[in-house]
Amino acid sequence: MPGEAVQVIVRCRPLNKREKALECGTVVETFTDVGQVQLHKPGSDDPPKKFTFDGAYDQNSNSQMIYEDVGFPLIESVLEGYNGTIFAYGQTGCGKSFTMEGIPDPPEHRGLTPRSFEHIFQEVAVRENCKFLVRASYLEIYNENIRDLLGQDHNAKLDLKEHPDKGVYVKDLSEHVVSSTEEILRLMAAGSKNRSVGATLMNADSSRSHSIFTVWVEAAETIEGDEKLRASKLNLVDLAGSERQGKTGATGDRLKEATKINLSLSALGNVISALVDGKSKHIPYRDSKLTRLLQDSLGGNTKTLMVCALSPADNNYDETLSTLRYANRAKNIQNKAIINEDPKDALLRQYQEEIEQLKALLAGQLSPDQAAMLLSGLNHRRRHRCFRQCRH
Ligand code: ADP
Ligand code: MG
Repeated sequence: MPGEAVQVIVRCRPLNKREKALECGTVVETFTDVGQVQLHKPGSDDPPKKFTFDGAYDQNSNSQMIYEDVGFPLIESVLEGYNGTIFAYGQTGCGKSFTMEGIPDPPEHRGLTPRSFEHIFQEVAVRENCKFLVRASYLEIYNENIRDLLGQDHNAKLDLKEHPDKGVYVKDLSEHVVSSTEEILRLMAAGSKNRSVGATLMNADSSRSHSIFTVWVEAAETIEGDEKLRASKLNLVDLAGSERQGKTGATGDRLKEATKINLSLSALGNVISALVDGKSKHIPYRDSKLTRLLQDSLGGNTKTLMVCALSPADNNYDETLSTLRYANRAKNIQNKAIINEDPKDALLRQYQEEIEQLKALLAGQLSPDQAAMLLSGLNHRRRHRCFRQCRH
């Protein structure tokens, strides 16, 4: 089966107030029509370095156009049963959150995340002969510890486990059934409040952690009397800032923290390099929690989009060059995404079996023992669901 490359786009923001006050020059030139970025070395007459991507967006771009170009097709695939991942990569303050979450006003600046959620729930509302179950989970990796941003105890450290069918997963991570865009956005906002944030010189509320918001979509579609079950997941990954230490003025605890943050990011870089150099048999997924969890998104069964945020300013030249090189390597990764049909652990199937059993119970076809067993199972699950709802 032919592979499919990871899609990579870059977006360059305008000069910010601080850069303007410092009278920074602009070193990034964007050629949207050909998806190219040219980077000019400050004070040098050398020809610019050129990088070509699946999309290059300049300071006048907006998230609506980015969504239409690369977000929409990815979410369509998720609704067809493919796994999807969107990474936001780049130096702190360059526009990762602006592109992912965005701002509500003007509407074209609403980010890729709310647009993806809307897209999913619009489809849930209109697709005929199809039942959906949508769940969400939200975790953070901070100093190589995994925390559940939507769990009862935000400080509990969770473990990674491996399962022959499911692959790598986080044990005890809470999952929340959601049925509308508003509900899932509220859930995400509640989780985001629990993220570890640290103030650095570059951006007062910059996040020093990686977060993964996962939307699990199960669909049971009836086609000519046959029911087909599919399950997919969408990972929205907000990576910690990719900048090196000198510039952010990190010291003490914050420097230690930064080293570990860079450990995950450099592990990600090493995985990307190993995947694209064509020679390595060993891909070092196991070197960090981030790469273990995202193994499927890099060289696996997932359609992946990487959004790289850039600053145009001359004083960020080195960081911008390093982001462009990272992005340039990533676009050579080949994934092999397939539709996930008939998953063994689909919750929709369990629910349907329960309904069938209930119907049988109503029809008086169960023995008293069978009826008692069934009811105790249902009560257990109902308690579980109620417990999850109570917390939010
Ligand atoms: P990051 O998440 O990468 O640390 P942010 O998305 O928070 O960075 O962006 C930092 C600041 O720059 C924010 O105030 C944001 O509104 C602004 N910004 C980022 N990208 C753009 C853009 N393309 N156009 C206008 N403002 C932007
Ligand atoms: Mg951010």
